Amino acid sequence: MSKKKLGLNTICTHVGEIKDKQFKGAISPIYLSTSYEFDNVDVKRYPRYFNTPNQEHLVKKIAALENAEDALIFASGMAAISHMFLAFLQKGDHLVVQNTLYGGASNFIKEELPKYGIEFTFTNGYHVSDFEAAIQPNTKLIHIETPSNPLLTITDIKAVADLARAKGIVSSIDNTFASPINQNPIDFGINLVMHSATKYLGGHSDILAGAVAGSKEDIERIWNVGKNLGGSLSDFTVWMLERSMKTLGLRVKAQTKNARKLAKYLDKHDHIAKVNYPGLKNHPEHNLAKSQMHDFGAMMSFELIEGIDAMAFQNQLNLIKSSMSLAGVESTMLLPSETSHALLTQDERDTVGISNKLIRFSVGIETFKDLKSDIAQAINSTKTASFA
Ligand code: PLP
Repeated sequence: MSKKKLGLNTICTHVGEIKDKQFKGAISPIYLSTSYEFDNVDVKRYPRYFNTPNQEHLVKKIAALENAEDALIFASGMAAISHMFLAFLQKGDHLVVQNTLYGGASNFIKEELPKYGIEFTFTNGYHVSDFEAAIQPNTKLIHIETPSNPLLTITDIKAVADLARAKGIVSSIDNTFASPINQNPIDFGINLVMHSATKYLGGHSDILAGAVAGSKEDIERIWNVGKNLGGSLSDFTVWMLERSMKTLGLRVKAQTKNARKLAKYLDKHDHIAKVNYPGLKNHPEHNLAKSQMHDFGAMMSFELIEGIDAMAFQNQLNLIKSSMSLAGVESTMLLPSETSHALLTQDERDTVGISNKLIRFSVGIETFKDLKSDIAQAINSTKTASFA
């Protein structure tokens, strides 16, 4: 089944389901076996080979959503990134990677890649010229993140994909913040799309998983590394992820609708100094985002005005949870300097613009007016305390 023929919510609900031939149940059965018949079978099934029935079926849904030929699912988003990098980079190779990047990915690059003799350059910015400037004769992979965590910078996907292809370099993207509902980078020529499936694909803050989608050939190359590294996802979680993804389209569209309204509300608020949301006309890459995203997503970040403490504000929220992760159906906020990007040095955070006041906001599916009043009351309480 291809995305061209089926609507988005039909893909989310049905592509990759396993027919329950035995009992004719409405949902995919779960196969927890870690041991399968060996003799006289074409496929040697084993969970670490990414080929149990549930693993093999769910990747079809992910591939269909990303307009990809194939996909693999992993035990975490970091497992997806690390397998992808290690499949396309070897000793002596060079990686060009965007400087505005999820903190865990930056740590992996800095702490692990040197052990394999792999060189890397973080770009000075997120424009195509910054990527071009960082390319070396031994560059084998260019990795981007757009919209980026937590600054929501937007990189020109097609321009970077074209640049990479012209130089014979593989391109990859972290598409976690947009989700396949709001952005399909393969349509712009990117080779590999990865997700922290812990985020929108899972969507209920109860699954740790990752995914990579791409051509059959590229996915097979990652599979060859994956069977050795062993980062596949347990079948119980695969089954939960399939269940979650049935509502991916509904959830992300509702979250995006709320985010659009909340970004406008925050942008106009006297006590908010700055809002980073690609859907706002004052976002520096608003037009670019419009041209490459189906919609602007449900992630944003903002800063309160001088004199209102960000942590005190967060502590005053009643409905919106102060929480580490993102993209669940519940709205959450956090300070990246204390959490997702805490392992970066102050200097590194200052260079890319992650201030200690920056608040990351993952918008959920709650009723808009309730989210708005929670923010309003938290600002009022913090303001009164700060200026008392
Ligand atoms: N990519 C992005 C943009 C993320 O926000 C995260 C986690 O926060 C990851 C990758 C890593 O995913 P995981 O925590 O599932 O390993």
